[in-house]
Amino acid sequence: MPTAIESVETMSLAAPLDEPFGYAQAWVEDRTALLVRITTSDGTVGWGECWGPAAGTRETVTDFLAPRLVGRDPRDVTVIYDELVHHARAAYQSVVPYPAISGVDIALWDLCGKLRDASVAELLGGRRREEVHAYATGHYFRHGLDLEDQYGAITAEAAENAAALGAVKAKIGLSLLGYGPDDDVELVRRIRDAIGPDAMLMVDANYAYDTGTARRVGRALESLDVTWFEEPVPPTDEAGYVRLRDALDLRIAGGECHTPAGFDRLLAAGGLDIAQPDLCNVGGITAGTRIGQHAATTGVPVVPHVWGTGIALATSLQYIATLPSEPWLEFDRSPNPLRTAVTQESFAPAAAGQVTIPDRPGIGITVDEPTIEQFRTD
Ligand code: CA
Repeated sequence: MPTAIESVETMSLAAPLDEPFGYAQAWVEDRTALLVRITTSDGTVGWGECWGPAAGTRETVTDFLAPRLVGRDPRDVTVIYDELVHHARAAYQSVVPYPAISGVDIALWDLCGKLRDASVAELLGGRRREEVHAYATGHYFRHGLDLEDQYGAITAEAAENAAALGAVKAKIGLSLLGYGPDDDVELVRRIRDAIGPDAMLMVDANYAYDTGTARRVGRALESLDVTWFEEPVPPTDEAGYVRLRDALDLRIAGGECHTPAGFDRLLAAGGLDIAQPDLCNVGGITAGTRIGQHAATTGVPVVPHVWGTGIALATSLQYIATLPSEPWLEFDRSPNPLRTAVTQESFAPAAAGQVTIPDRPGIGITVDEPTIEQFRTD
């Protein structure tokens, strides 16, 4: 008897923050998540997560995608993914709602694993590693501090994270607070001083710059032993990525805002040294796997972008287990009550900075539904 999908539900979660924090594009006032729960006729449940605001994506999942899923066998996940993308492209005039498709695709892969009693990494062809080293994302801008106090607070956080994990990612783009690119470079210089010469340091501009400014900032970063320069220019400026990669003696990273087609163009044009698909945004595990294969054929390592709850972390860990290059786990250390509330597993890095990759069926999580109820907004 085939196992058929019986229901597709969403859960919208929000947790207010005591203090907002900022990056180049915006202030973060609260942490939110949109989860997808798919249940089959035999009672098996698969979980997924969608990147970004619930508004729009929630309705796309429940009103547009769900009717195309009910009655299907989740083990046809790749067939279903292609059909959903095809239908969405026709319906939404080429603007495919990839965050919605991502949450569905992840839940289907979770179901496939549970129905076949195998982890997602096994289903994708096997595990290349049992653990991965985490690096710390954080070091956001503080509200209401002057520049010197910003520097003081951010460098103190970076020093603490470097002591814990040995690898940190700095945020630049202080234009949010009215400062300029030279102030960004000074922030990175102070972080390098605070963490010492041995810690790994990445820099993320969240596309704060035009190409000319990014080139100037990148040249200054070349002497600060920066492992990669992430999202220097807007995701739409694919030519800018290529020009920066040619001009700078620095690895150019990006991808969290790109679609599968955007990755294909960027990789083909030679615009990336490191590809950073976010599985909750780019189209789930199916899209992530295809991007990973394209990246591998062009010699570009993949280090996925990760932002969200334990579901996003667990999904990324299964993907990381399969990558042929040497990946890192992006581990967000900024305030987020949802990061540990949704799953019983915390995926917190061990003392040496390693995170063990689960080998339980599906994405390897146990969702804490009673705790989730406290954060529901729908
Ligand atoms: Ca980023």
